[in-house]
Amino acid sequence: MRFYYERNEPHTESDRYAVCKQVSYHLGTPLDPEVIWTEVLAVRPGIDPAQRTFLDTCITACNRSSWRPADQTDVRVISEKHGVVGMVDRIGADGAFSIVRAAGALPYGTYAADRLRIASCAISLQEMTGKEVTGGFVEYIPDGVSRHHAVQPRDRRQFLSTLHKVRSIRDGEVPHHPLNAPCNRCRYKERCESSGGRRLSDLM
Ligand code: SF4
Repeated sequence: MRFYYERNEPHTESDRYAVCKQVSYHLGTPLDPEVIWTEVLAVRPGIDPAQRTFLDTCITACNRSSWRPADQTDVRVISEKHGVVGMVDRIGADGAFSIVRAAGALPYGTYAADRLRIASCAISLQEMTGKEVTGGFVEYIPDGVSRHHAVQPRDRRQFLSTLHKVRSIRDGEVPHHPLNAPCNRCRYKERCESSGGRRLSDLM
């Protein structure tokens, strides 16, 4: 449903993401707040100055762990077989890849959306390199946590079913209201509730 509502909106990056992303370029090397903040201002000149405190929080959290430095950053990955393009934030010298998140980490494991992105990147990288890619890391910068996710068959099934749904929406299909969506923390809750929880296709 969210994809359906947002399908024509331009993607905008948040201030928090701009900070976390800039921190990620320095992981594995000393994290100098002044240097990183100067870069954040260059990338996002209108950023809320209060985010400087958030930067300090991220750096304090990241300094509690050791990190692999990146060999490559912002690597475009593509699967011609499945018709998808994405981006991997960091790839280490050993070939392990990471995606960067501006969210806090769960106590254990990774969010469903992160597992889907890891699966999509792993499938694409495997097709590009011809080598098996079994999983990747999700780096939750505000908590300084790097968590590995090994791609499971259920992630690959989710990847294929999501592709199918996205294509059907792009072809003009209206999605059905799912039964187990995380509606309580969604900004479209009111909009979806006003549809009475019925299929939108019944209403439009
Ligand atoms: S309110 Fe629920 S069904 Fe609607 S977009 Fe949000 S998560 Fe999806």
